Amino acid sequence: MAEARIIDGKSFAAGLRARIGRQVAVLKARHGIIPGLAAVLVGDDPASQVYVRSKEKQTAEAGMASVGRRLAADTSQEALLTIVNALNTDPAVHGILVQLPLPDQIDTRAIIEAVDPAKDVDGFHPINVGRLVNGEDALAPCTPVGCAMMLKDVLGDLSGLNAVIVGRSTIVGKPMAQLLLAENCTVTVAHSRTRDLPAVCRNADILVAAVGRAQMIKGDWIKPGATVIDVGINRIEAPEKGVGKTRLVGDVAFDEAVQVAGAITPVPGGVGPMTIACLLQNTLVACCRQNGIDVPDDPGE
Ligand code: NDP
Repeated sequence: MAEARIIDGKSFAAGLRARIGRQVAVLKARHGIIPGLAAVLVGDDPASQVYVRSKEKQTAEAGMASVGRRLAADTSQEALLTIVNALNTDPAVHGILVQLPLPDQIDTRAIIEAVDPAKDVDGFHPINVGRLVNGEDALAPCTPVGCAMMLKDVLGDLSGLNAVIVGRSTIVGKPMAQLLLAENCTVTVAHSRTRDLPAVCRNADILVAAVGRAQMIKGDWIKPGATVIDVGINRIEAPEKGVGKTRLVGDVAFDEAVQVAGAITPVPGGVGPMTIACLLQNTLVACCRQNGIDVPDDPGE
């Protein structure tokens, strides 16, 4: 059997960001509106800093306004709530993301619930979670939205396909299940208590791995020709690169899986780049909804 098609998330995301940039330009020219995204970062976690910087850079590149709020690690819950409330009422801000994880003194749930659901571009507020389940217009979490977009691009109509999602987190597994159900897939959500996981996975036309365990899903767990989306990001030792070196791998044993699958996302360069692009997409959608207008059509290049 031929090797799987590699799904190039990096170029897919670049295309999506370019398209969003053109739509933002139309919005500006036609309505004088500039979508604004506020990123709130509490503390100095290096991974979060890199991630927020990258979000801000891509927001600006898409022609949107980027509002940064950097707060000290000992910021109180009350102070953070005051900032979130100010952003909720700021008409120049259409999307708010509070970078997680938050320091221990802060109740993460209370902060997520304080964000105006109309500006909740991470899709974590219970109102958006409920709307997604009800099949209503929701802002859905960015990572699964990106996965669903790539699946539709690769496979077209997903109706009737067996989708197996390994992982049931609130940010990936559960919303992924809802998005694929909305695409008329027959959805199975597997997790740490699932019996005979390899057999469950072998039934999948679409296999989404969101576990957080390096290379756990083996080649012989995959149905020949299946489309595999690997959400996992795991850092492992890479002695072949030198002493003390590491590399990133997914939850799928890529070298084996690529021999069996029909299409597969690599790690890095698969799902990861789509997440921020979908954050910009959610901000554009949120901005248009708040202004009571349709998202402009792509005017093309
Ligand atoms: P969580 O730790 O919140 O959830 C992991 C899920 O995997 C849980 O539902 C857990 O089951 C399940 N699980 C754990 N071990 C097993 C096992 N041995 N067999 C079957 N299921 C198992 O992780 P996230 O959903 O937040 O993230 C998953 C991965 O995706 C991580 O590697 C993370 O870094 C990555 N990620 C990547 C993003 C991107 O942009 N590319 C964005 C978000 C996450 P149970 O519920 O029973 O405990």
